[in-house]
Amino acid sequence: MTSNHSNENTQIQIPTFEEAARFHGHVCPGLTIGYIASKAAIEKLETERDIDEELVTIVENDACGVDAVQVLTGCTIGKGNLIYKDHAKQVFTFICRNSGKAVRVALKASFNIDAIDPEVNKLRPKVMSGTATEDEAQEFRKRMDGISVTMRETPVEEIFDVKFVDVDIPHKARIFNSVKCVKCGEMMAESRTRVKNGEYVCIPCYEEYTRGW
Ligand SMILES: [Zn+2]
Ligand SMILES: [Zn+2]
Repeated sequence: MTSNHSNENTQIQIPTFEEAARFHGHVCPGLTIGYIASKAAIEKLETERDIDEELVTIVENDACGVDAVQVLTGCTIGKGNLIYKDHAKQVFTFICRNSGKAVRVALKASFNIDAIDPEVNKLRPKVMSGTATEDEAQEFRKRMDGISVTMRETPVEEIFDVKFVDVDIPHKARIFNSVKCVKCGEMMAESRTRVKNGEYVCIPCYEEYTRGW
């Protein structure tokens, strides 16, 4: 891919919210957070969706929004350019290797999703516990859709801090040699082996060995 440092007229192809919702399965505020964050970053970085690790995204949570991040950016676990940090924060950093630029998108503490439609907070426990009637479940989905629409119509700067940051660009994914586990006989990447009595074992087998020590 060639980098495109052109003007505002550049048409960047960004997947629709419906595409993200199809991938995720349902419409929810979390998915919407990931969608808005990714869209803001792509526009700021002026980059196309990732093909072959031109982009890297660091997500600081493993919630619904990460699915939108994958759809919009093309950064995935499988390609090795979606990096997960277990900080339980709605913060996403998008890095473009071609331009060397990075954008950090962080949910503002002042943005209160629960205040958009407080009715859903009454319905949610019923829906989650499976005690909601069909009408209540339908009402819940309708209100979740409404929250998502409201969020997408809200100016992004009311929801997120979006700014360029300096980050160390992570290395591209590496491919390691395969090694056979002496216990289960399955192959594993050399980088993740454990050594037991001088022999290579895989992580699950190593944990079996060490259980109860
Ligand atoms: Zn969700
Ligand atoms: Zn094993």
